[in-house]
Amino acid sequence: MPARQKAEKPADTSKPKAAGTAGASAASGAPGSGESATQRALRKLGLVRDIDFALYLPMRYEDETRLQQLAHARDGETVQVEGVIVDQEVVYRARRQLLATLDDGTDTVQLRFFNFYPSQQKQLAPGARVRVRGEVRGGFVGRTMMQPVVKAAGTPLPLALTPVYSTIAGLAQPVLRRAVQAGLARASLDELLPDALRPHGAWGLREALRFLHHPAPDVAMAALEDRSHPAWQRVKADELLAQQLSQLQARRAREAQRAPVLRADAAAPESLHARLLAALPFSPTGAQARADAEIAADLARVRPMHRLLQGDVGSGKTLVAALAAARCIDAGFQCALMAPTEILASQHFGKLVGWLDPLLAAQGRRVAWLTGSQKKKERDAMTAAVESGEAALVIGTHAVISEKVRFARLALAIVDEQHRFGVAQRLALRGKAAEAAPGGAQPLEPHLLMMSATPIPRTLAMGYYADLDVSTLDELPPGRTPIVTKLVAEHRRDEVIDRIQGQLAQGRQVYWVCPLIEESEAVDLRNATATRDELAEALGEAVRVGLLHSRMPTAEKQAVMADFSAGTLQVLVSTTVIEVGVDVPNASLMVIEHAERFGLSQLHQLRGRVGRGAAASACVLLYATGDSGRVGEAARARLRAMVETADGFEIARRDLEIRGPGEFLGARQSGAPLLRFADLSSDAHLLAWARDVAPQLLDRYPEAAQRQVDRWLGTRAEYLKA
Ligand code: ADP
Ligand code: MG
Repeated sequence: MPARQKAEKPADTSKPKAAGTAGASAASGAPGSGESATQRALRKLGLVRDIDFALYLPMRYEDETRLQQLAHARDGETVQVEGVIVDQEVVYRARRQLLATLDDGTDTVQLRFFNFYPSQQKQLAPGARVRVRGEVRGGFVGRTMMQPVVKAAGTPLPLALTPVYSTIAGLAQPVLRRAVQAGLARASLDELLPDALRPHGAWGLREALRFLHHPAPDVAMAALEDRSHPAWQRVKADELLAQQLSQLQARRAREAQRAPVLRADAAAPESLHARLLAALPFSPTGAQARADAEIAADLARVRPMHRLLQGDVGSGKTLVAALAAARCIDAGFQCALMAPTEILASQHFGKLVGWLDPLLAAQGRRVAWLTGSQKKKERDAMTAAVESGEAALVIGTHAVISEKVRFARLALAIVDEQHRFGVAQRLALRGKAAEAAPGGAQPLEPHLLMMSATPIPRTLAMGYYADLDVSTLDELPPGRTPIVTKLVAEHRRDEVIDRIQGQLAQGRQVYWVCPLIEESEAVDLRNATATRDELAEALGEAVRVGLLHSRMPTAEKQAVMADFSAGTLQVLVSTTVIEVGVDVPNASLMVIEHAERFGLSQLHQLRGRVGRGAAASACVLLYATGDSGRVGEAARARLRAMVETADGFEIARRDLEIRGPGEFLGARQSGAPLLRFADLSSDAHLLAWARDVAPQLLDRYPEAAQRQVDRWLGTRAEYLKA
């Protein structure tokens, strides 16, 4: 665990334990060291330091500040009343239960308890005055309240709403509530924003947090719920500021790092870059040329590149990657290209070997291939080529960054579909260049180029990722005919099969994607196999139908892919393993079964497998209605988006709208949402403020800036930088 907790003290270990706060007070942050079950549960929620508790805000509130009258309680309403117990009995109706009748002077209600102790029976003895809180149900035999919370009557009413925190099994709400309260009381919440940078009239953080944990009962609930209340505004602005600061710090740290300066004369006719361009059967699009130039400028600098190349499916990112690799090789260094799956890596390999190997051979160099499933002998030969520098470009899966692989002179790492790559892997990749650095000197970082086909909407990319430069391929290579997307109900499956026949008759190929139906891969496999058989039967002997499934051994998968690429297989039935990157230009029809179950960007990725050549292409989204006879609202929005637009940016924008940015960015970047409270679409004004203030705070008040980052991100900050 990185030691980044200097500014905010870890939750108290020195002070004596406050009564009733077992969790908060003893959490030392050291897992396993005599940690109690409560502490473990709290840590699971990320609650370790005092400040973590203070920033753990309620998901809703209960109003216990007033007493109501039974006569006015509506059915289903949660109320708090005080009255006298007029009757009590223990009965056996299926289960043993305690029944007590309470009269508050306006009406009576029967209290029912299934789990009760003798002490409770005593508390609810006839004649006792008590306060109860629970949901009133207007039953046939009179009103009842199940398992109400019982307190002594006459205890002072709280002055604030009671917070309800999101919790997990094994951590009771009252325990969590006390722990949060204790953490909040102890956390140092001094103002870190100097007056000059604090918007006029803005709430202080301390004020805001205390208020949100215990709001006054007269506050407009709506402003709390939609988070427009000034207290919420302050907390969200604070969070965004911390995020911007951490990005800015990362950017500056990177500026201090050194990378190999890659500045060969790419225009020289003997350069690999020039020879590659000359050998291609097409010329780069304007967007590709622009991205190549942006990358060239980065590579020629002494600070490591940190660039995202984003472009819709089919926009030609592979060529841009190849041109970047060529620049790196021209400068006398090695390049590594990694893809998240073996199929995708092998597709890249196929393409890049075809493009570069003949050109490299003249220099006695080559493209190497590294994957986990390789035979040891082949693998050893490849790693030897990487170590000696004979391999100018290394392509593969995670195996490329395995510990055993040593690079002679790694200078550029290209990561395809970066959001599927873990942070740890990206960090390991960095280490690879350090190994290659000459002893004694400051270790060199490789330049990093990340490629993504699921573009982040421009506004998000620009505003949010202060530590990322972005090149965008906003133009498709010429000669593409747009893909026609059709929605077809499952019961019209026969028509789809006719359509397949039509395409096959023209010599085209077809993908058929089966959905993930069950958690179990075995069931999926059975399903996909059944579909394959069904299609083979319907299409007749002359048509060869292949099957691709994630359960198959890699070699078999590759063989099937190769057959489909070569045209020996005309139809490919597949689970979603073909999702990213696969490139077979002769395929002109994509059928997606149970399309309503797929995510929007996944559908768009899948559709991008067709329309890669000049032939008119189509995508058929087969959908089934559930038991309700309808497709759910979100699913309908996704299907509609697919029919209405083929533009990846527009798709990303709608995906964002349907899912919300937390999930959108979270899933993409780290598997965990990066923002807890702020919402990038509705809080754009706060993001603008944070972007403006972050550099000022960092320059003029570096200590406050660091404390701001620690406060919010604590140990997570290290990971966000990667
Ligand atoms: P993606 O951006 O989805 O990775 P690819 O790099 O796989 O796209 O390119 C899609 C297809 O377009 C490939 O067959 C590729 O060879 C071809 N292509 C790339 N650039 C051009 C271009 N400038 N002109 C014509 N075809 C191109
Ligand atoms: Mg690609």
